[in-house]
Amino acid sequence: MPVATDGIVLKVNSLRQQQQLGFTAKSPRWAIAYKFKAERVCTRLNEVTFQVGRTGAVTPVANMEPVLLAGTTVKRATLNNEDFIRSLDLHIGDNVFVEKGGEIIPKIVGVDVNHRSPNLQPVHFISNCPECGSPLVRYAGEAAYYCPNDTGCPPQIKGRIEHFIARKAMNIDSIGPETIDDYFRRGIVRNVADLYEIRTEQINGDGTRQKSAQKIVKGIQDSVSTPFERVLFALGIRFVGETTAKLLAKHFKSIDALMVATPEQLVEVEGVGTVIAESVVRFFHDEVNLNIIERLRQHGLQMSLNAEQQQPASDKLAGKNIVISGVFEQHSRDEYKEMIERNGGKNVSSISSKTSFILAGANMGPSKMQKAQQLGIDMIDESAFLKMLE
Ligand SMILES: [Zn+2]
Repeated sequence: MPVATDGIVLKVNSLRQQQQLGFTAKSPRWAIAYKFKAERVCTRLNEVTFQVGRTGAVTPVANMEPVLLAGTTVKRATLNNEDFIRSLDLHIGDNVFVEKGGEIIPKIVGVDVNHRSPNLQPVHFISNCPECGSPLVRYAGEAAYYCPNDTGCPPQIKGRIEHFIARKAMNIDSIGPETIDDYFRRGIVRNVADLYEIRTEQINGDGTRQKSAQKIVKGIQDSVSTPFERVLFALGIRFVGETTAKLLAKHFKSIDALMVATPEQLVEVEGVGTVIAESVVRFFHDEVNLNIIERLRQHGLQMSLNAEQQQPASDKLAGKNIVISGVFEQHSRDEYKEMIERNGGKNVSSISSKTSFILAGANMGPSKMQKAQQLGIDMIDESAFLKMLE
């Protein structure tokens, strides 16, 4: 290739197969990155320090003797987590092999154990948060240690505010991470509710930045109309991503109903497991969070689905059990599911004698097709379905 590159992306050629494969929440199922073998050097490990991220995850960082690697001088590398450190049997003073792959942050990939000097001390993971001192916790099934003090640990507070203003959350683009950092240090903003209480005179730089201050305040105030499901995502409940926030909003319809939900009620929501359920319950049992939510409510943020989202569009599909199958062109599967619900129908996943009809797209599976024919169930294509709802 005529350009410098660290790898290639392999893709499925057929557009039809791409459509069938679809996407996960994060990436297409029909494309995958292939990285070339990275350049590798050897240097000495001087010290291991620990960084607390926005989510409270604690990352060990190797501080090394500076070394030239792939065109830049490298002196720090990520060590991922405790298991990784153990698997390397890492000691302070070790000669380590470092690689720089596709990521900007270099990685330690091995230790030169044959040349280890005697009396070196093994690297131990810390047990308390280096930022706030809280004892660290490790959740079942997770490799990382977390600082659980999510409402009092500075990097986590800043991280939550940054998450709150992000495009997919409240979409407040009049401020960025540097501004958040500045406001946090000056004590203007200590949590997301404080954002709505910023006054222009606090941030106008003695009048020299009046215009930009007004723009910032307006940007924040404008965000109060953001729909409930995005407010819920913006709150930054651990393990509640964009999709889960939508599911929870749709199921519980308001934050008041969600707040008092038990773990049993939460896991009834399709796509919500015990880890998410426990995290939601924990979030709403924290006084600090409840206080912030109350203040956000007073500032006019949407704490329930709007009237249109709550009202059924019609009862045209009342009493109907509908199976969706195949690939569609005019709307996504999720959109059809929502249409069915909003018109009084019920989505069911498998075909039975109780199925009212099948909303059938292209490439429906042959076994489903056969079953439908055996049971004499109607198959309705998407344009006929949309006509039904007109
Ligand atoms: Zn902490």
